Amino acid sequence: MSEETMTSRILSRRSVLQGALAAVSFIPASRSWATTPEPGSIPLPPLDGQLLVDAASRTAAAEDFGHIQHRAPWAVLVPGSVDDIVAMVRFARKQGLRIAAARGLGESHSTYGQSQVEAGIVINMSALSTIHEVGESSAWVDAGVRWHQLLAATLPSGRSPPTLTDYIELSIGGTLSVGGIGGQAFRWGLQVDNVLEMDVVTGEGELVRCSPSRERPLFDAVRSGLGQFGIIVRARVRLVEVPPRARTYTALYNDLHRFLEDQRRLIEDGRFDYVEGFAVPAAGGRAYQLEVVKYYAPGAEPDDAKLLAGLGFQPGTLQVTDGSYFDFANRLAPLVALLKQLGVWEFPHPWMDMFVPARSAEAFIEEVLSQTTEAEMGQGPIIIYPFRSAALTTPFLRTPADRHVFLFSLLRTAIPPTPENVEALVQKNRAIYERLTAIGGRLYPVDAVPLSPADWRRHFHPFWGRFEHAKRRFDPDHVLTPGQGIF
Ligand SMILES: Cc1cc2nc3c(=O)[nH]c(=O)nc-3n(C[C@H](O)[C@H](O)[C@H](O)COP(=O)(O)OP(=O)(O)OC[C@H]3O[C@@H](n4cnc5c(N)ncnc54)[C@H](O)[C@@H]3O)c2cc1C
Repeated sequence: MSEETMTSRILSRRSVLQGALAAVSFIPASRSWATTPEPGSIPLPPLDGQLLVDAASRTAAAEDFGHIQHRAPWAVLVPGSVDDIVAMVRFARKQGLRIAAARGLGESHSTYGQSQVEAGIVINMSALSTIHEVGESSAWVDAGVRWHQLLAATLPSGRSPPTLTDYIELSIGGTLSVGGIGGQAFRWGLQVDNVLEMDVVTGEGELVRCSPSRERPLFDAVRSGLGQFGIIVRARVRLVEVPPRARTYTALYNDLHRFLEDQRRLIEDGRFDYVEGFAVPAAGGRAYQLEVVKYYAPGAEPDDAKLLAGLGFQPGTLQVTDGSYFDFANRLAPLVALLKQLGVWEFPHPWMDMFVPARSAEAFIEEVLSQTTEAEMGQGPIIIYPFRSAALTTPFLRTPADRHVFLFSLLRTAIPPTPENVEALVQKNRAIYERLTAIGGRLYPVDAVPLSPADWRRHFHPFWGRFEHAKRRFDPDHVLTPGQGIF
């Protein structure tokens, strides 16, 4: 980070903190806050951190990467400790307020208000971002830590989380609440399949440690639980040994069928460490770009001919690049810097992320792409890659019943960024969602698709009863995470 950026960050943070009111109490009758004691007002529990009730903080907490939904909370908790989260969840429960965790103040990567709380409390999890321990096979970290920060701490000892999201500035708590998919998922499962233990503050305000052998129902509920059952405050995440180098191969296909078949073959034979792919603009329509990576140690270079044998990409389109493992993991950083510089990062993002059963993938992807213009993508990427259902272990990560499942994502930028265009794209997403469910597909629920409680019941089927039961058990008063509108 440049000195100038660092300074402006510190200044903006300081100015936010100056907006905090020194001593705040809650007035239940008017559901508002007071800075001086008033009859009937209820003092806040003692906090190590701060509760921000100034307009700037509340407005920031009504933003996310989607820039589509804007629900302002009444306050933002900047926790100084896990005890602050326990105290505020208990306080919110008692006062009938809703509360949700978010990666940061207005820095949430949700695209449709999933971490926002209308007239409630948002917890800025980035305030708790300590890496407590890095061992041989796991790391114990605060939920506000970003994958990038963790990787910087683990790579010196040659270790990495086995599956990384494409973009590593996401928070560990945020991705464990949804799934955390990347090109290594075919081998290792998602990030939720690689968490070993968690500390969770339930909707009752209890701090509970859970793992596969301890408080298992909570452990199973919280992973991909969309923040419905508890706030994850710490997690022990799996680490694996990784070589320091990564060789990336990209190549183009004209033929969707062959592209999908080759991807499936590669995740079965496991010759690469990472398998992804994209639909890209091409003369007369779209082509399909395979992106595969082999990790290696210096002196043990990959055998390109052996790795690429039998693949049906178009001759002359192969590109091979070598770099460090970290640069590969952090490969989106230069693009994101450019998008921020151009101002496009701040445009609305009506994203659509789908899990498509392999048996229907070709027809479904072809149909959706034929109805999706380049203008509707706003130069955002279209991602297509498969993973194996056998690698998944997380009950509430709902994926189609098939041996292989494709992630199919339309990562739209709304250009022009007008409310009319955004609304039209969200409605397109909704129409695609109807087609998706008709073929047995599921949403990856991080995207901009309006869903009703009935849609959510359908999403979690046949686990809806289990989901509802977990809500009654861990958040009986529905205090947590109203943003998705599940209940
Ligand atoms: C540029 C970009 C790239 C992305 N790339 C990928 C990718 O490659 N793979 C992938 O799987 N996803 C990807 N995503 C989606 C991402 O995983 C989700 O947005 C996810 O929600 C994480 O974002 P976050 O850390 O900002 O959490 P937020 O968006 O702040 O939170 C997400 C949800 O989890 C809840 N939550 C947050 N923290 C906690 C916590 N500690 N405990 C309980 N609940 C919590 C929130 O209330 C909200 O409902 C990407 C998103 C963007 C914008």
